[in-house]
Amino acid sequence: MSRIAYVNGRYVPHARAAVHVEDRGYQFADGVYEVCEVKHGFIIDMSRHLDRLGRSLGELSILWPVHRSALQRILVEVVRRNRIRNGLVYLQVTRGVAKRDHAFPAPDTRPALVVTASRMSPGTSASMAEAGIAVVTVPDNRWDRVDIKTVGLLPNVLARQEAKDAGAQEAWFVDADGIVMEGSSTNAWIVTRDGVIVTRSAEYGILRGITRTTLFDVADRLGVKIEERGFTVAEAQEAREAFVTSATKTVMPVVSINGRPVGNGHPGSVAAALRAAFFDIAEKTDA
Ligand code: PMP
Repeated sequence: MSRIAYVNGRYVPHARAAVHVEDRGYQFADGVYEVCEVKHGFIIDMSRHLDRLGRSLGELSILWPVHRSALQRILVEVVRRNRIRNGLVYLQVTRGVAKRDHAFPAPDTRPALVVTASRMSPGTSASMAEAGIAVVTVPDNRWDRVDIKTVGLLPNVLARQEAKDAGAQEAWFVDADGIVMEGSSTNAWIVTRDGVIVTRSAEYGILRGITRTTLFDVADRLGVKIEERGFTVAEAQEAREAFVTSATKTVMPVVSINGRPVGNGHPGSVAAALRAAFFDIAEKTDA
């Protein structure tokens, strides 16, 4: 079956889906995006992803490309047309197409909207979670508005490649004080020797992950406490467990950091329990 993409009002074959060369996303990374997981035919946490999209757009003074309710329908439609049961749906909004000039284009320039969907085998994520992933750390060299989910991801791209070159699956950005900020596309967590779940505050310096937010609900339901504070690389290496969260990885155990095993070097029980409970508690929208 051929894939379908949504581009500025039209459903088109994915292979021929294209935007203009003067789209400001292409020229300046002047755009934002969201990724929702699709699980068993449901879009996960769509409301929270659209809330965050609204915030990202607002911070950059980009208008909604279509009404929020229309965007919801487009997301569902793209998942349906691609017959995705398990995978992800991706949306990107840019400031639109205009003659190349750094300052904002004329106010009547229409924001551009692209939506795509892709399949992921649920087995791939499950077996990754059984094995756990390796993390390396890199200096955080990003701008200070990483709370906005922009398509300007070059530092994240370079960090992830560094991880890959080192045989790891994720890179953690670390600030000048040695505090772990977040992963290249995930939020970072540890479980201390005393069994306390720790993640840094999302007030600044990281993206407020939707999986992170929902995990607070999950922890509540399981009756476990989350402490919001910074932790160092050394503390993470000494922790009982470590894990990362994102829409496509849910809760993914980390079994080594810079080559040092975390805990006993195997995925931990807290991460497993959070992962197991996640989809019961997350919002599910039928697609
Ligand atoms: N941090 C960064 C830098 C990310 O790119 C992502 C993934 N979008 C996350 C955290 C996790 O966010 P979410 O749980 O919303 O996928």
